[in-house]
Amino acid sequence: MGRRPHALLLPYPAQGHVLPLMELAHRMVSHGFTITFINTSFNHARLLSAMPTLTCNSTNLSINFISIPDGLQPGDDRNHIANLCKALTTIMPLHLEELIIKMMHEQPEHDKPTCLIADESMAWAFDVAKKTGLRTAAFWPASATTFTNMRNIPKLIQDGIIHEHDGSAKTPGVIFRLSHGIPPMNVDHLSWNCFFNPESNKVIFHYVYSNSESIKNAEFAVGNSFYEAEKPVFDYLNSSKILPIGPLLSGRRFGKPAGIFWAEDTTCKAWLDEQDVNSVIYVAFGSLAILDERQFQELALGLELTGRPFLWVVRPDITGKAIIDLPKGFKDRIGDRGMVVQWSPQQDVLAHPAVSCFMSHCGWNSTMEGVSSGVPFLCWPYFADQHLNQTYICDVWKTGLKMIPDENNMITKEQIRDKVEELLGDGEMKKRALAMKEIAIKGVEKGGSSFENFNTFVSAIKQEV
Ligand code: UDP
Repeated sequence: MGRRPHALLLPYPAQGHVLPLMELAHRMVSHGFTITFINTSFNHARLLSAMPTLTCNSTNLSINFISIPDGLQPGDDRNHIANLCKALTTIMPLHLEELIIKMMHEQPEHDKPTCLIADESMAWAFDVAKKTGLRTAAFWPASATTFTNMRNIPKLIQDGIIHEHDGSAKTPGVIFRLSHGIPPMNVDHLSWNCFFNPESNKVIFHYVYSNSESIKNAEFAVGNSFYEAEKPVFDYLNSSKILPIGPLLSGRRFGKPAGIFWAEDTTCKAWLDEQDVNSVIYVAFGSLAILDERQFQELALGLELTGRPFLWVVRPDITGKAIIDLPKGFKDRIGDRGMVVQWSPQQDVLAHPAVSCFMSHCGWNSTMEGVSSGVPFLCWPYFADQHLNQTYICDVWKTGLKMIPDENNMITKEQIRDKVEELLGDGEMKKRALAMKEIAIKGVEKGGSSFENFNTFVSAIKQEV
């Protein structure tokens, strides 16, 4: 029997990384690959509780699921990103190596792993792959700009933009360009400078820096973007080995949903069907952002004040507290005008004709999903790459407005109402969003740049070394 290409896929253990890599898995299956998807044990348990039909090593989706420990204790806080990053490099590499060696010894010849595709934030895994003779590719779920910043850490240090010891700005707030044509960036918006405190930023900077070295061992890098979205950055990279293949997750998504940590509340689709076309404000802040209690209450009052229909994702942990209190009488006053869910089928929601705009934390998946649905944004970034993504939406593509905290660090209910009105009253903004959607969709259709890049990538990585 001929040897079938068998890819091991290793996501960084967070929702926004697992979802797009799972989509890549589905696409590779359709190109004849066997996939082994390696989650952390903690996340594997979450996937099982959100989607009980997904069993360990199940092949019901033509994907085998395997899990290894992440290095933290069961009760540890996985949303403490600095602690998670420290843990990931302690015992996970050993478990990964053991797993690969076991598979190489025990699997029949025609089914042995042939390549490893690891998230850019798990690039340490390429050191393991090198030892075990697998072909390698990095996957970047964030923007190509974020990926490029990571690869350029030595240059940023050399050019005197960041400090070598912690990645912080030499001159806070300074605007720099990696090269002519690349949009100007604020040094404080480099992803490692946007975590919760200087100590976390420092740990994350060193994690990213070390991954940026290991990533050199990857033969290819593929990511969830498209050429026209970040043209100057792709021109700057000018590499046939760094290939945008996105948007991966959109209303036209290829794969079956899998890889979600919260069960989707699909009742919102029937609710959307009852709303007028282009009327609903969709509000969601991804999987990790935490709103402080005051801001959460103000957001509820702001949505009320708009007088418009809204669909609001209120994750069970959105305020970091066990119990979520909506403002007194809120539900009675809103009635059927608003719907609150814990987790939505977001790609379907954004593609629904009733949705008029997306109030978003600007995670890159959400950004690509909004773009590929032609929906304008109200940008409310929190951390990591979200400020940089906001810059793309508002300053480069001009398909959204910034929500700006006041002197008390609050986005007031009046600002929420006013920005919604400004955004929805701006026909040009909607036109630009629809134009971006056309470009994005063309790219993933037969003959489009992302489509061709994906084909180039799979045929190359299928070859035996
Ligand atoms: N998502 C979802 N339902 C929700 C909220 C988010 O399916 O109610 C998905 C969203 O479609 C996206 C991912 O979760 O694919 C979040 O990734 P993103 O990069 O936007 O943000 P992060 O969670 O990494 O901050």
